[in-house]
Amino acid sequence: MSDGYITFTIKEEKGIALIAHDNEKPKLIAWCRENQASLEKHRLYGTGTTARMITDATGLSIRAFNSGPLGGDQQIGAKIVEGQIDLVIFFSDPLTAQPHDPDVKALMRIAQVYDIPMAINKATADFMIQSALMDTQYDHEVIDFKKNVEDRAGTL
Ligand code: PGA
Repeated sequence: MSDGYITFTIKEEKGIALIAHDNEKPKLIAWCRENQASLEKHRLYGTGTTARMITDATGLSIRAFNSGPLGGDQQIGAKIVEGQIDLVIFFSDPLTAQPHDPDVKALMRIAQVYDIPMAINKATADFMIQSALMDTQYDHEVIDFKKNVEDRAGTL
């Protein structure tokens, strides 16, 4: 891979973020029920209300951040940057305006920057959870942030 990138390993046990906008919450809860056996093998995180509702419905243990509109999406973005979240399942609502749309866009952007798989609908989530890569390590190339800072500090 080109200069400026570094190899990161997504381990067998993955950090998975679960988020759903209000109209999509029932769909994500049903999806978690269907895939409970697979999800139990990983570390789960979620925005406040989504996490609480999934735990109440399935018993899955999920580390809950703040509610999305109160900064939860940004907390999940921060955990991607810190290397703790490896995968995002985000059932977003394409038909309803969200007060925290800039936060949603920021989360999508940071997932792209860190080459994090992100499912924004059920079909993508199905393909993701049934991938053979869910049970193995996965190496990927991510921007070398230390080198990036050195280069920028040296040239700007
Ligand atoms: P919530 O947030 O799980 O607290 O509802 C989700 C979101 O709207 O981003």
